[in-house]
Amino acid sequence: MKPRMQVTILGSTGSIGVSTLDVLARHPERFEVFALTAASRDEVLLAQCIQFRPRYAVLTDTTAARRLQERLKSTDLETEVLAGPRALEEVASDPAVDVVMAAIVGAAGLAPCLAAARSGKRLLLANKEALVVGGEVFLDAVRTGGARLLPIDSEHSAIFQSLPDDEQLWPQSVDRIILTASGGPFRTWPVEQLSGVTPEQACAHPNWSMGRKISVDSATMMNKALEVIEARYLFGLAPRQIEVLIHPQSIIHSMVQYRDHSVVAQLGTPDMRGPIAYGLSWPERIASGSAALDWRRLPAMTFEALDEHDHERRFPGLALAWQVLEGPPGQCAVLNAANEVAVAAFLDRRIRFDQIHAVNLAVLESMRFAQPRSLEDLLAIDTEARAEAQARVQELGA
Ligand code: NAD
Ligand code: MG
Repeated sequence: MKPRMQVTILGSTGSIGVSTLDVLARHPERFEVFALTAASRDEVLLAQCIQFRPRYAVLTDTTAARRLQERLKSTDLETEVLAGPRALEEVASDPAVDVVMAAIVGAAGLAPCLAAARSGKRLLLANKEALVVGGEVFLDAVRTGGARLLPIDSEHSAIFQSLPDDEQLWPQSVDRIILTASGGPFRTWPVEQLSGVTPEQACAHPNWSMGRKISVDSATMMNKALEVIEARYLFGLAPRQIEVLIHPQSIIHSMVQYRDHSVVAQLGTPDMRGPIAYGLSWPERIASGSAALDWRRLPAMTFEALDEHDHERRFPGLALAWQVLEGPPGQCAVLNAANEVAVAAFLDRRIRFDQIHAVNLAVLESMRFAQPRSLEDLLAIDTEARAEAQARVQELGA
């Protein structure tokens, strides 16, 4: 019998984390949970520990970690509790670990991703912000560490599944990749009404149930902008070879158009357990728990280009992806930091929905920085861009 793969989940209490545990629970003969981590939700993490009996449980919030430690005393578990952000790196790079699911939201996940990459893990990337911020530094860590980076974002998993197994063939055979986008909850709203959008409306995605940050990003289509950057780094294509197409039904998860104009697509129900299971079992396939497409009930598939239906005005942030990819290295990190701050401010009702883009644009225009070469350089740019974005938020909220 093959030894079971040891899995660390960074961000196990979130939407992707919970879906990952759901897939793992279907294959106890194949996977064992090594470590579970979260920011501060110790109650949820305790319940997960009781079910999956990990060797380590990490909470970055030290008070929450102390609470978890107390609660674990009344169980028969031998789970060790660790606290603070450095512990994330430890459980991501422990020699006993085979697979790391990166499911933290935001640039906070970059350091543990790099730790996993440098120690040669199978790294399942849901945490797109880490690659957007890390860029070449991230890819270098993957190469030098001998890690295997596999996409979990549904679009990127679809593209990966539609590409030839032999990566050497990608540059010569691919014409373009077509990232599909649902268009989010405001695809058909008059642009003038977007200034009145509430956090509740922005978080109500028509097809996917996700964490709050990515839900707002889907509503502004900044999520797709981050995905364009993510695709650039994952697949090594030129930015102009990456195209976005609105497909409201989210049945086609993305496509690859080849030199001969043949198009290969991946289809499925909108359920993240599909790409998660594929990342876990690649190159094999295992049951994921997601429903099969029901061809008799399938709605008609429709498509809208971005220069139709006022979409360029409705989703002004999307074009920033190509702009920052053409700009100096570090610009992607600036855009990501500004957007994280702006989205948090919108969720706190400190700025309006349409001001998220205003903050992002203002920060991109005002920041000057040297070319980043290390994690420290990237984190310095990230910190400065956040301060700049906070200042813009203050001005707007005044
Ligand atoms: P979420 O908010 O539901 O969960 C985030 C997880 O990260 C939680 O476990 C939280 O405790 C942890 N976390 C948050 N901040 C942290 C910090 N500073 N330090 C340590 N841990 C922290 O988010 P989600 O929807 O599961 O998304 C996770 C990532 O996956 C995001 O990058 C998102 O873009 C990406 N993603 C999500 C989906 C989806 O369907 N939810 C789909 C594609 C990609
Ligand atoms: Mg996606």
